[in-house]
Parts: sequence; C-alpha cells; structure tokens
Amino acid sequence: MYHHIAKPPRSVKVRGLYVTPQQFEWQIQRLQEAGFEFTNFRQLANQNNQESTDSSPKRQIVLTLDDGYLDNYENAFPILQQYGITAVVYPVMGAIGKKQVVWKENDEQHPVDLMTEEAIQKMHQAGIEFGSHLCDHIHLAEHTEEIIQDQLYRSKEILEHILGERVLSVAYPFGSYDSKVLQIAAKTGYQYGLTTISGINTMQPSLELKRTAIKGHRLHHRWKFMKQLQHQFSE
Ligand SMILES: [Zn+2]
Repeated sequence: MYHHIAKPPRSVKVRGLYVTPQQFEWQIQRLQEAGFEFTNFRQLANQNNQESTDSSPKRQIVLTLDDGYLDNYENAFPILQQYGITAVVYPVMGAIGKKQVVWKENDEQHPVDLMTEEAIQKMHQAGIEFGSHLCDHIHLAEHTEEIIQDQLYRSKEILEHILGERVLSVAYPFGSYDSKVLQIAAKTGYQYGLTTISGINTMQPSLELKRTAIKGHRLHHRWKFMKQLQHQFSE
C-alpha cells in the first residue's frame, strides 16, 4: 500500500505516506529479485476463472497506490513502465484533476494535487488498473446506508465511464468498513475490497484483503523494507 511517490515537502505532517521515487524503484528491484510476480485484480480474476493445472504457489504481489495523487502519474508511472510492471491506483473520484486539495476528514492539512482524467486514461492504456476510493475521502462505516451506497455506486460508475471497462475493486479510505459496507459493496458488484489491515492474502477474491503499508523516504526505511519482506514471506 503506497500513497505519495515523492519526496515529502517540508510542511507535511503525515510523512509516512511518502516514498521517494528512488526508494520506490529500489523496492521494486528488491521484490523482483525475491521472485515476485506483479499482478492486478483483472489478471487474478482471469486466473481464478481458468482451470489451473499448475498447483505450485506463486509469489504474487498487487502494488496499490491510494488517493490518485498527481505524483503517481509523474513519478511512479515512469518507473512502473521502465520495469514493465502493473499496479492498481485508487483515485478519489470527486477530486480528479483538482489542485491544492485538502480533505476535511484527513489528519494531513498539506494541500495536494490529484491526477487528471487524461493521466488515468494514459496509465490505463499502459496496463495500470484502477479501482474506486469513493467519490469523497470519508470514513465509510460512519455514514448511513444511503451514503455508503451512493459513494460505492457513483465512484464505480464515473470510473467505468472514464476507463470503458468494469471496475473490480474498492480501497476503503482510512480502512473504514464494517458488515454493512461489505454487504453493499458486494451488491454494487465489487469483487475485491482493500483494507488497511496488515498481512498477506490467498488468491481468492475477497472484500477484506489485507495490505502492507510501505514507507521509504528515510535511509533506515530500506532496512525496514527488507525486514518486512523477510518477515511476511518467510514460509
Ligand atoms: Zn486514501
């Protein structure tokens, strides 16, 4: 789980959301060295539909980028292309193309620039998948059923219109979800849902997938990254 791919600006409070482009590239190199195959939810859904004769477990990774920051397009996208790997990006649909945005519910009050519709289309054409991060960056579980349904449905509709393709996944902002959210997400047609609970997953579709938050803007983060890698995939 990544957010910003950029050097954290001086006035940023929540610095853990930033990974520098240099460390992002370094992390991808380490994952490739460790034998990981980068995939996305469309590829996983197709894999699950096919009768597999190969039963050996693969080390697969879905690299996710939350919120749809412009720096994902400017800094992460060229690196992803250079290494020929896919990722899944979760833009806040109500903020597409906006500049200097501050989300009310965020701890971070430093204004951010979001990627445009054109950037989404360019990345999509190059094999990057997109999923919903709602229309507004809110704690979904704290709202009424009407609002939950509206946020899940409308963000999916807008994104599908931009991509010309079905949207398979949603990342719950702040990892905020409950049984009501899960029910409505399933009814709305999502096959994959991304939480902020730390861990690894099986290949099966789930609306409660775990993720690993990645840091990387300070020197010791390289060491931490290697520790995480060894710890989570030691079997
Ligand atoms: Zn978010």
